[in-house]
Amino acid sequence: MKYDVIVVGSGYAGSVTAHKFAQDGKKVLIIERRDHIGGNMYDYIDENGVNYHKYGPHIFHTNSDNVVEFLSQFTKWYPYEHRVLGKINNQFVPIPFNLKSIEMLFEEDKAERLKKILIDTYGMETKVPILELRKNDDDEIKELAEFIYEKVFLYYTMKQWDLSPEEIDPAVTGRVPVHISYDDRYFQDKFQNMPKDGYTKIFERMLNHENIDILLNTDRKDLVTIDLENKQILYKGEVFDGKLVYTGAIDELFDYHLGKLPYRSLDFVIETHDDYFQGSGTVNYNTPKEEDAFTRITEYKHMMNNPKLEKTTIAVEYSYPYDIDAEKGNIPYYPIFTDEIKNRYDEYVKLTKEFNNLHLIGRLAQFRYYNMDGIVEAALKEYENIKFK
Ligand code: FAD
Ligand code: UDP
Repeated sequence: MKYDVIVVGSGYAGSVTAHKFAQDGKKVLIIERRDHIGGNMYDYIDENGVNYHKYGPHIFHTNSDNVVEFLSQFTKWYPYEHRVLGKINNQFVPIPFNLKSIEMLFEEDKAERLKKILIDTYGMETKVPILELRKNDDDEIKELAEFIYEKVFLYYTMKQWDLSPEEIDPAVTGRVPVHISYDDRYFQDKFQNMPKDGYTKIFERMLNHENIDILLNTDRKDLVTIDLENKQILYKGEVFDGKLVYTGAIDELFDYHLGKLPYRSLDFVIETHDDYFQGSGTVNYNTPKEEDAFTRITEYKHMMNNPKLEKTTIAVEYSYPYDIDAEKGNIPYYPIFTDEIKNRYDEYVKLTKEFNNLHLIGRLAQFRYYNMDGIVEAALKEYENIKFK
């Protein structure tokens, strides 16, 4: 079989692109090193009847009509609005930190004063990143900002990244701004729904096409190699002149030629309990690691559509430095971007451009903190860019 397009990876980036090319009559080969499709979106029904997300909690939320329209070809949806509680001063309060969190943590007079000054300064229904709030000169806001910084962000971020909030890209803590509102949903996007039959089914339907072949349990290195000297892609040792769409880690593709890029990894410890374990889908442990070594606990039953189950499954989430050879922490989940690392990534991108048939899409390949809707959007756009090349 002669393939027009080889896609490495079957997450959203790879699967959306493969689907589009297949629809366009192109013969596509997907190479996936895991024993399943779907990348980090992979989910399955476990022994408790719970729809378990193998690679961490994934909640679909978007403002993009385009993405909803595209994915709705492969699934029906049910409504789900995610809520998160955070452990602060031994209480479980709403996260993002909001007016309700203030009411729960401060005595009534102080809470009223703090709420009023926040509303007067920033307005109701506004969002303020913690690093912005800390810049405010007002004494009372400053005191509150320091409280939130320490109790919501500092310990959690140290556990998650092994860095302080100032040391990571401000956009990362900016994902969870202080919310001057009583709206305690984790996301405010207009579309917040979960796929009726789970995520894996979306991928099965998207890839069920006569023009798509899928090789599971196969590493790219076993079939596709990069000839850096002649700027050629080889498939089974022969020059491949179709398109290679690569969605794995960019440094790995080039055999770490320009040095490694750093990632954070995770490990999930699964437990079964009776009935329900906690009050919301996710509970963050914003405490120092000496108190709770993990970052968060997810209870998947909360995310299901009206489940009638006796048992519940929880995943206790620990953060690790990424090391491909380690027993725990061998999956690159989150790119760590500092200025130095961004430069190294840019050098890799320059190298990519020297190949006229190599296209990189995805969270790892583009070294970006994409949500799934962002990846679907990016893959659809990139397909339009490269289909005629
Ligand atoms: P991936 O899903 O990682 O797919 C890459 C695929 O390539 C993998 O299957 C991998 O096995 C394969 N691969 C890599 N290298 C090779 C190789 N050499 N050979 C063969 N195959 C290879 N987004 C949301 O919108 N909502 C959420 O709630 C949310 N929660 C998240 C929680 C966590 C813990 C994480 C880490 C991310 C979360 N995201 C969430 C983001 C979402 O997971 C990503 O945007 C999306 O899955 C990225 O898709 P992708 O195709 O780029 O990468
Ligand atoms: N964060 C935090 N405390 C929280 C929630 C988030 O410090 O209670 C910080 C932390 O650095 C985290 C980042 O904000 O990595 C982004 O949070 P998000 O919930 O978006 O992370 P994800 O679900 O992608 O892991």
